[in-house]
Amino acid sequence: MRHLCFILLAATLSEVSHAQNETGSNCCADLALSSVSLRVSYPGEAAYEASLASYFDGKSRLSPSCIVQPQFAEEVSGIVKVITAASSSKPCQFAVRSGGHTPIPGANNVNDGITIDLLYMNGTTYNADTGLASISPAARWGSVYQALEPLGRMVAGGRGSTVGVGGFLLGGGISHYAPRVGLSCDNVANFQVVLANGSIVYANKNTDPDLFTALKGGSSNFGIVTRYDMETFESEDLWGGIVTYPASTVDQHFKALVNFGLDPNRDPNAALIVFQGYSTASPTDVVRAAFDYTKPVVRPDAYKEFFAVTNNISDTTKIQPMSAISAEFGSDTTKRVQFRTVSFKIDLATLQETARLYKLVITELQAKASGQWRVSCLHQVWSTSYTADSEAKGGNVLGMERYTENFIMYQSYLSWSEAKDDELFIDLGIMLTDGIQKFAASAGTDVKYLYLNYADKDQDPLTSYGADKVDFMKAVAAEYDPSGVYQNLLPGGFKISKA
Ligand SMILES: Cc1cc2nc3c(=O)[nH]c(=O)nc-3n(C[C@H](O)[C@H](O)[C@H](O)COP(=O)(O)OP(=O)(O)OC[C@H]3O[C@@H](n4cnc5c(N)ncnc54)[C@H](O)[C@@H]3O)c2cc1C
Repeated sequence: MRHLCFILLAATLSEVSHAQNETGSNCCADLALSSVSLRVSYPGEAAYEASLASYFDGKSRLSPSCIVQPQFAEEVSGIVKVITAASSSKPCQFAVRSGGHTPIPGANNVNDGITIDLLYMNGTTYNADTGLASISPAARWGSVYQALEPLGRMVAGGRGSTVGVGGFLLGGGISHYAPRVGLSCDNVANFQVVLANGSIVYANKNTDPDLFTALKGGSSNFGIVTRYDMETFESEDLWGGIVTYPASTVDQHFKALVNFGLDPNRDPNAALIVFQGYSTASPTDVVRAAFDYTKPVVRPDAYKEFFAVTNNISDTTKIQPMSAISAEFGSDTTKRVQFRTVSFKIDLATLQETARLYKLVITELQAKASGQWRVSCLHQVWSTSYTADSEAKGGNVLGMERYTENFIMYQSYLSWSEAKDDELFIDLGIMLTDGIQKFAASAGTDVKYLYLNYADKDQDPLTSYGADKVDFMKAVAAEYDPSGVYQNLLPGGFKISKA
């Protein structure tokens, strides 16, 4: 009987993409009759407008029919049950939002449907017996660090204080601690998940291990995660900050980055991002090095080749706690944003090509863009050590074992104030990463992997994990969500059914 219900629901859901959107308000009416009625808000109401205003990317403030803000996993479960029950006669589309930082319209919000905003699920607690921190999905990393530091504990979380926990951990998660303890998702010991049938399950190394693995990189394809239990380690101050140099130093920085990235004896405490950047607020073309050493050691030797670059413009490095370092990376913007990503081998010529294309983008924007805008292009070393750290902890789906050499994971980050410039910025962002990809392919330095948390909507990070991982994720989705709720009713984000 249960199987028959799933088949009937699956048949209804397959019609969803063709369904008319006016069902959104009917679905909200069903929610308003349920036990979460007090958590539902509508256009014009304060809770609804505040939720929309808090999206990181201005383009992502869509128009849901209603927003529901549950406070507990049980309420999330109730919402999923109402949505799926209502969908057997009239499909209800919905979106899930934790921190709301993904700058892809529709990934974390929906027009004419229900947005489940986990805003009030934002606490962090620590269990001294297990050594695990239990973190709710809409906590921001700054608040996590502020909760754990007084207890002498730390987790491998986001580098920016304002970034949400929920999406970050499901996409992989790169922290300053990654060279030491691996990717953030691999530091999750247990996920509490609301499945498509509304049941609340715990996925870890021993229980539902396939779901546990798939959630680490598989994003919103399997359920709504309502709690992340993360491994902790001793909290110590870090030495770090951002040093800004004139653009003329870019080649010196790239040469140092190549040596840093290829060093087989790289110090695992040494995290680094090399940026190129330009902003209308301070219109000088610059190179930045973000040094983050996870021990309280001033100017450690690990960065000595970078320290040989002289004439810096500013320097914020000092010994400080993670909560303070993350504040420097935090950014709440009211602007419009595009992230894109591409990966390539650690190779000077390919790095130099990124700089050539970056210059073209800046020149074009200086001639054509209006209002306030900013371009940052980030170069980070993706380390093969992440693979060993992952396998020891139950594995993930990123397909990292294919890579035997460290590589560069590149992110372009464009932000602008004027909606009329959307096409200009979006097209130039595409030109930039496509250009790098094309150069890398011809130079033999291309790397397939696309980091989901930096990918744009036309990119396909799930496929980039490899065919075996795609097959695995499809099997896990079919097992835990046989009626395809998280594929068809939750249209946003990167979908395994489309990989
Ligand atoms: C200023 C800034 C700094 C950043 N720094 C870093 C960094 O240091 N390292 C790094 O790796 N990335 C970084 N990122 C990228 C970041 O990891 C992604 O934007 C990530 O998606 C943010 O998580 P969120 O909860 O805010 O996202 P949201 O936009 O809320 O969600 C992202 C996606 O995940 C889904 N989702 C969210 N929560 C859940 C849940 N509980 N259950 C199921 N699905 C869910 C959503 O539906 C959506 O598709 C940064 C981004 C910004 C804007």
